[in-house]
Amino acid sequence: MSKNKNSQVIELPISLSVRDLAEKLGTNPIEIIKTLMQNGVMANINQLIDYETAEIVAVELGYNVELEKIEQLQADENEIPLWRRMIANEKDADLKQRPPVVTILGHVDHGKTSLLDAIRETSVQAGEAGGITQHISAYQVTHNGKLITFLDTPGHAAFTAMRSRGAQGADVVILVVAADDGVMPQTKEALAHARAAQVPIVVALNKVDKQNANPDFVKQQLSEVGLIPDDWDGDTMVIPVSAKQGTGLGDLLEAITLVADDTDILANPSGKVLGTVIEAEKDSHRGIVATILVQNGTLRKNDILIAGNGYGSIRAMFDYRGNPIEEATPSTPISVLGFNEVPSAGDIFYTVDSNKEARNIIAEKLEKEKASVSTPTGSLTLESMFDQFQAGQVRELRLIVKADVQGSLEPIISSLEDISANDKEGTIKVKVLHSGTGNITENDVSLAVASKAIVMGFNVSTDNAASILAEHEGIEVRSYNIIYRLLEDVEKALKGMLEPEEKEVVVGKAEVRAVFRIRKLGNIAGCRVIKGELRRNGFMRVLRNGKEIYKDEVVSLKHETEDVKEVREGHECGVGIKGFTDFKEGDVLECFVKKMVKAV
Ligand code: GDP
Repeated sequence: MSKNKNSQVIELPISLSVRDLAEKLGTNPIEIIKTLMQNGVMANINQLIDYETAEIVAVELGYNVELEKIEQLQADENEIPLWRRMIANEKDADLKQRPPVVTILGHVDHGKTSLLDAIRETSVQAGEAGGITQHISAYQVTHNGKLITFLDTPGHAAFTAMRSRGAQGADVVILVVAADDGVMPQTKEALAHARAAQVPIVVALNKVDKQNANPDFVKQQLSEVGLIPDDWDGDTMVIPVSAKQGTGLGDLLEAITLVADDTDILANPSGKVLGTVIEAEKDSHRGIVATILVQNGTLRKNDILIAGNGYGSIRAMFDYRGNPIEEATPSTPISVLGFNEVPSAGDIFYTVDSNKEARNIIAEKLEKEKASVSTPTGSLTLESMFDQFQAGQVRELRLIVKADVQGSLEPIISSLEDISANDKEGTIKVKVLHSGTGNITENDVSLAVASKAIVMGFNVSTDNAASILAEHEGIEVRSYNIIYRLLEDVEKALKGMLEPEEKEVVVGKAEVRAVFRIRKLGNIAGCRVIKGELRRNGFMRVLRNGKEIYKDEVVSLKHETEDVKEVREGHECGVGIKGFTDFKEGDVLECFVKKMVKAV
């Protein structure tokens, strides 16, 4: 490695992402990731590393670095939140104060969740709390007649996701610091994020009820990172609270309203509708449910929204208590039904005039993405690894392993590390790049992307965002609930013996409009194909009220009186299914074919 690339000293913050480090050093992120790996740190491009780690990498790559002075740790000027840019176009006279939106950040176990729960319980007006049927990830409280909106997605992952898309949900950050534990690595990370996003901070000094709480010591630590408490002549409000005993919460709400009053938190309620997606998921009963935060304008039922690559007319809209509402003004968190695709946390949404306009905008966006992004160079699956071993391209099988509990993780890792195979080139080994307990997350998948690894889960599920990323990047995520199966598959992959798996691929859907009785064949469903096509050589699933009640081979497919091989969308046909005669009007038939696929 060439040393002393630059005699100039480069200042780095206390925490930054791999991408930002590469940018600051003027080098390739891959170079950084490789150097991190050589030092035993597995990180993907968006991962945050602390200054100490960044320094090791930088020095190894021949740069001179030092820690940025706290007073220089200022906001990135380019990072003016979208809503601020948006209101810059509004006339001053139209701008009105809106409730502050608050998010809670801090080190793990310092009490973020407990604090959110305590505020929700004590401050959501009596009688209302009981009405919360559908939990949405935000709520509102009233303090001295003023509304405050809380984002109930603790942790800076959600905050970062929003920032990385140029969105900014929060106007005020509550930094929770446990009085018995003090400033910890994630406290510093959270602080770095809040500062970069130019969001004012209120410190909640939590767990003051604990015997070993040491508020003065923590205040000292806070001062060292530039958060000087106001009772020490600084300008950071540090509010002692106990989420457990419910004390200090009123003071905390008061501090939020004071900070909010000092900051221009404005919107034009009759301006262009704009906001941020907080989270979204597909619900088996209700379809796509998105929790969104309106930041400008007033959103009304039946408005047409675009977010990410999806759009939809708002079929129904609910407040955080689950009550149906007709309109939502700025800073109101709501859940909406009607999107045709699941948007991501942090996607910006806005309204358009018609479905046609929405479709055109998305088509154009997809076209642009297609032109600018090179498609992934082929999927990375356990099955395809063998070809790569054979081609001599890869000599190790890299895995990321997640399990439900430490007790199962340890034996899996040690058994995996014992597996190896020999071929003419030598030995191929398993290398576990990262392991941990808990669900498979977006971070696991992005690490797999950066390091060409496969993700294996044991008794865990895969987060929605992780599945989307894996699908998009062609990364295989395999799930198991029997340890030896997992080990067996890895062994087979090394030896090139892994069988492709059979997968059902849906090719079309039809709606049953009438039922006919035909001699010899029994009952036949008279259908209209509503999506894709039905195939004579396929299989059919019968869905009644959305639930599967039967599936088997197609035994007859007729268009009018003729036997046909396929029937396409918009056409009528008669369908017979092996062993099934109990069709009912309104049933949905889903036609699928079986394919041998490499990916799970
Ligand atoms: P998070 O990881 O930051 O969301 O932390 P949690 O809210 O899950 O809290 C972590 C642990 O600290 C839990 O066992 C809580 O019961 C406990 N805890 C949270 N707040 C307090 C507090 O004010 N006092 C005491 N004694 N324990 C608390």
